[in-house]
Parts: sequence; C-alpha cells; structure tokens
Amino acid sequence: MKWNIESWGRYTTSTPADVQLVNANWNPVTTEPKAPYLAHGLGRSYGDSCLNNGGTILLTSQMNSIVNFDAKKGIIRAQSGVSIADILSLVVQHGWFVPVTPGTKFVTLGGALANDVHGKNHHIAGSFGCHVRSFELIRSSGERLVCSPGSNSSLFSATIGGMGLTGLITWIEIQLIAIGSAKILMDRKQVSSINEMISALIHADEKAQYTVGWIDTTSGDNKLGRGVMFKGIHATKAEVGEDENTQFMDSQYSANQANSIFSVVPKFGQYFLNAKTIFMFNSAYFQYNSTSDKSYLASIDSFFYPLDKIPKWNRIYGATGMLQYQFVVPMHDGKFIVQSVLKKLRSIRASSFLSVLKVFGDIGSPGMMSFPMPGVTLSLDIPAGIAGLLPTLDFCDEMIAEVGGRIYAAKDSRMRGSVYRKMYPRLEEFCTLIDPQFSSSFWRRVAR
Ligand SMILES: Cc1cc2nc3c(=O)[nH]c(=O)nc-3n(C[C@H](O)[C@H](O)[C@H](O)COP(=O)(O)OP(=O)(O)OC[C@H]3O[C@@H](n4cnc5c(N)ncnc54)[C@H](O)[C@@H]3O)c2cc1C
Repeated sequence: MKWNIESWGRYTTSTPADVQLVNANWNPVTTEPKAPYLAHGLGRSYGDSCLNNGGTILLTSQMNSIVNFDAKKGIIRAQSGVSIADILSLVVQHGWFVPVTPGTKFVTLGGALANDVHGKNHHIAGSFGCHVRSFELIRSSGERLVCSPGSNSSLFSATIGGMGLTGLITWIEIQLIAIGSAKILMDRKQVSSINEMISALIHADEKAQYTVGWIDTTSGDNKLGRGVMFKGIHATKAEVGEDENTQFMDSQYSANQANSIFSVVPKFGQYFLNAKTIFMFNSAYFQYNSTSDKSYLASIDSFFYPLDKIPKWNRIYGATGMLQYQFVVPMHDGKFIVQSVLKKLRSIRASSFLSVLKVFGDIGSPGMMSFPMPGVTLSLDIPAGIAGLLPTLDFCDEMIAEVGGRIYAAKDSRMRGSVYRKMYPRLEEFCTLIDPQFSSSFWRRVAR
C-alpha cells in the first residue's frame, strides 16, 4: 500500500514506508521495524517535522483516553492522542482551561508537547512545556520511562520541544488554569506602525492575559506594519452577568468538530489567492477592526480559534501549498528585523494572508530545543511558488540568525541545516538524547 501524508502547509508531502496505529501498549521490540519511526498527531505542523518520508509513521489517534482528571486541583492526565478540543470539552464546564493553547484546538497533547507550543499568553505563562508535570515515553529499546522535572530530567527536557525524536509519548499530565467563565473579555485597537504595535503589545501585558497583533503586510511603505492589536482576559462570572451560584456558563461547550456552513473548495483555492485578493482581504480586515472604545465578550472559539471554523482552510493555497514563516528575534532588534523581512518579501511581491506578531516574555521553558525566547515573533502565511521566494527567505534566515534569533521548526519546510544549527544552542546535547530509531523528514534535512 502506498501512503501519502501531508503536513498543514501542503508544501511537502511524504510517502512513508509504513503507517502503524499505535496504542499505549506499543512494543517496538516485537514489531518488525521499517525504521525510522516518527509519531504523528493531527498533522497541524505546517512543515515536515511531522513527516517521515520512507520511514514508519506511528499514528496516535487511538491513544485518545483521559486517564485521570482532578476537577478540584485542575490536574489532568490524558493519552497523547487526545486533542486540546477534547480537553476543553471536558474541563471548561468545571472552571478550568488549558494553560497554553496554539491558534487551533485541533492539536494533540503529544504534538503540543513535542513542539512546545506557545500561545497569546507567553508573557505570563511561558510555553506549553512549563505546565507539564510528567509524561511517559517509550524508547525503541522497549524501555518505558516516566519523565518529570525530578525524574529522567534530561529526557524530560529533550522531549519538550524535541519534535518527536526522543520516542513515543503515551500519556501527559498537565496543570490547568482556573477560569471564572467560558467567555473572554476582549479589546482591539488599530495601530499605524510596527513600533506602535510592539509598544502596544508590551504595554498591554500588564493588564492582559492574552495579547496578539495582526499586521497588514500589504500596506504602503509609510504604513508598513499597521494592524490591529487584540487583547483578552478570561471574564469573571460577574462580567458575563452571572451570579456566583449559577451554573458555569457554556457548560455545553463542545469543541470536538469544526462546525461551519462553508469550507474551502480546493479546486478554486489557487485562483482565489493572489497578491490582489490578499491586498483586498488585508485592507478590509484592517477597516473592519476599527478601534473599539469598550471591551466586549467573545466566546473561547472566536477569540482563540477563529480559523477552526473553516474546515480545511489550508486548501485555499491550492496544489502548491503555502509556507508559514515564523521567527523570533531579541526585542531590541524586533522593529528593524520585522520591517526588513516585510520589505524583502514586498520586493518579490510576496504578501501574507495572515500575519501575526506576538511578544514573548522571559519565562524560560524546560525544553532544550524550544522555539520561544524573549523578544518579538512574527508569523507569515505565504503562498508557495512565488518566484524568488526561497532565496529571499534564505536571506531573511541569515539576518535573523545574525541577531541571535530563531526559526520555528514546527512551521518550517525549507530552512538550511547550517542556519538551523546556528539557531539552537543546545543542539549537541539534544543529539545525545535522541532515540536512534526515531527520525523525521525535517531532521534528515537540517541535522545532516
Ligand atoms: C491554524 C494553526 C494555528 C497554529 N498556531 C500555533 C500557535 O499559536 N503556536 C504554536 O506554537 N503553534 C501553532 N501551530 C502549530 C501547531 O500547534 C503545532 O505544529 C502542533 O505541534 C501540532 O500538533 P499535532 O497534534 O497536529 O502534531 P503533528 O503536527 O502531527 O506532530 C507534531 C510533532 O509532534 C510529534 N508528536 C506528536 N505526537 C507525539 C507523541 N505521541 N509522541 C512523540 N511525539 C509526538 C510529531 O512527531 C511531530 O514532531 C498552529 C497550527 C495551525 C494549523
């Protein structure tokens, strides 16, 4: 049987030699290895870190049980194939929320841990790995190890952000955060430049749990970096108009399926998305989000996961797919590098449909290969196939490496190994902890 597995960007596909549905009893010693192995969650990584061309993919979808949920302390242990959507469906009604969430709820706990994902609250919460109490790892030797900050601590640190290269995670235990309601009290503010955006994000931090900036990459030079800054906080019961004795709002919260009346038709995607339509979308979005003078209530789904409402939206980029480019640079270089990258991309007429700027705080992650570091991070969704795109991004990579910044491996499908190796200072130590029978298309591309 010929398998074809895609990542979210659909820029690279892969043909693994074998695909196995694994459960928590997986024993690599008794299975015929068509090594190397790689676990695969919901494939929401944009690049090839979740692909294993020619190797064996271990699908984790059957590891889908909640092992234990302590609704008093907000501690949950679940199998690694359980998604954030599944977790929210259970815990929100008890007044708990995931401590860190990416911009989609359709990621597994295993994927969230292996990429040490970040959210809009890095400045106060750090990355996902900061909230992991323990997990179980199966190595290809058949050994099963429970890892925590105090036990098998090197493997704990290598596996958080370790891109699935240290073995198969079976379950994960995390500490949730308490919330007062299932609503977000949010604000938005238009800003006219990168400087203003960065400053708005930094200064919002004191009061806001969640902050994020959307940037219009198509605006003219004098407005480059104009955009909208969003901030939010979990609303209290009083703010949503409930008294202390009422049932938790939205106790029926159910996040299991993308629920929408429309989805993207792949056939027309490539005709829909071009420099002109991206310009039109960006201008309209900017105008639509004019500054609101008072806070308003939003649902969890509309604040955190707007894209989840459109199933398979990644197909809008057509057959050539897209490249997501996400980097982080230290704060003092933020404005200059963000502007330089936007200008470079403008010079080849590469616009980004969705461009998101965030500020990372200084809470360190336990993960030795984690992406977040203090500074400014920008992510851009760029249609692949634009003439000159790859050399332009290579040029940008060098600029970013020069100032001590990083590219996010979870989103990457094209960076050169020489650049990657400069960006992650604990790479050598990490290499000693990788499982010799695990690898990925990404790893073979960059670590050679
Ligand atoms: C719309 C959208 C928004 C996003 N927003 C953000 C964001 O805000 N912040 C952010 O950080 N990321 C973001 N991402 C990226 C996404 O959160 C990560 O790529 C995440 O890791 C995907 O999880 P997954 O379950 O789909 O894992 P996959 O993509 O299938 O795999 C990811 C990695 O996890 C490993 N893995 C999975 N399960 C296991 C396991 N059981 N044992 C060992 N290794 C395992 C895989 O080998 C692979 O290396 C976004 C992605 C999308 C599509």
